[in-house]
Amino acid sequence: MDWADELAASLAGPQVVNDSKTPSGTVHVGSLRGPVILDVITRALRHAGLETQLLYGIDDLDAMDSQALLTPDAIEREMGRPLAHIPDQVGDGHASYARHHAQTFIDLFEGLGIRPDRYYWMSDIYPTGQMDPFIRTALDRAAVVRDLYRRVANVQHPDHWLPGADRGLSGVWAFAGQPVWWLGQSAQHPAPAAATPADASVQY
Ligand SMILES: [Zn+2]
Repeated sequence: MDWADELAASLAGPQVVNDSKTPSGTVHVGSLRGPVILDVITRALRHAGLETQLLYGIDDLDAMDSQALLTPDAIEREMGRPLAHIPDQVGDGHASYARHHAQTFIDLFEGLGIRPDRYYWMSDIYPTGQMDPFIRTALDRAAVVRDLYRRVANVQHPDHWLPGADRGLSGVWAFAGQPVWWLGQSAQHPAPAAATPADASVQY
C-alpha cells in the first residue's frame, strides 16, 4: 500500500479533490507536480470505492505580475491587470492571455491521462457574486489570514495588510465594514482617490 492508498483508507464518504493554477505565462514542467499528485490521489480514492470528483480551477482574475511573452510596452500597459482582461499576445483565437496559457496547460493533462471532471474559471465565478461571502470572511478575519501567512509561509505582513493586497497592483484598498477593492489597477485603471461607504463595491 502506498501513501495515496493509505490516505484513501483513512477517508470515508464522497470526496472532492481540487487544484488550481494562475495562467501567468509559459509554465515549466515542475508545474505539473500538483496535477499529477492530485490525479494519483483521485485514482486511489476511486480505487477504494469512494465517490470522488476532481476539479481544476483557473485563477484568471489574478493580476499580471510577470512578463512572460509580453513586449516591454505591453508590460507597461498590462501590469497589474487581471490576466483574463489581457489580450492573447499570440493572436491565435483565444479570448485572453489567460485562456491562451491555461489551454496549453490543460492540453498537457490529456496526454498524461489527467481528466478533471470539471474545469472552472474564476473570471466566470467572481462576477456572479458567489465569492463575495468568502471575500467578506477573509476581510473580517484578516488577522487570522495574516497569522496563517506568518506560520505557514513565513511571511510577515504589516498589521494594516488585507487579503488580496498582494495581487500585483490590485487588491483590497480599504475596508470599513464593506469591501472596497478592485482588480486591475494600472495607469488606465487607477485606484479610487478616497473610499467612502458610498464607494463600497466590488469591481471586476
Ligand atoms: Zn492564443
